[in-house]
Amino acid sequence: MAMPTKAQIFEYWMDWLDKKEFDWGEPCCWACKRHFGAKFDLEKPQSTREEIIKNWNSVPLQRCHIIPRQFGGEDTPSNLFLMCKSCHDKAPNTKSHEIFLNWAEKQNFTLDLKENFMRELRTFELSDRIDDVNKILENKELMKQIYSSSGLHMNQVRGGVEITISSIVGQIAEELKRQD
Ligand SMILES: [Zn+2]
Repeated sequence: MAMPTKAQIFEYWMDWLDKKEFDWGEPCCWACKRHFGAKFDLEKPQSTREEIIKNWNSVPLQRCHIIPRQFGGEDTPSNLFLMCKSCHDKAPNTKSHEIFLNWAEKQNFTLDLKENFMRELRTFELSDRIDDVNKILENKELMKQIYSSSGLHMNQVRGGVEITISSIVGQIAEELKRQD
């Protein structure tokens, strides 16, 4: 059997996604809910059901096996799940559907961002200076400067450009050194 398209996989999972409060017209990773930007969002409510389904083919998500091929998992929509690259790399590969879905439902991109921020605070030895860091984050003028001197990086997971958290935290560390 040929690998189903992303639209076919979406069509199979539509009701499940709806129950989990995913927005059909604003594609995101089905595990961490990372959104892929307005480029892939549909104008609502003008879009037809057919357009909504077809739109998923263009989203930079990967078709991931729930039960891997090595354990007899098939290339059927019921055994495939659309996720971003980083979730695909982290997902469980077992003989159990349940382990996979339990894991998927616990993923959270916003929490990952917070964890990344905390990690970079440790990198730049700012973990015990949260109050000072917050003061800088609240300083609009300073943050404008920090953002404008942060380069844009092509994110390999999302496919869009963004400023890395390490650029921001690194510059906050420099600023605090200047102030000390
Ligand atoms: Zn994800």
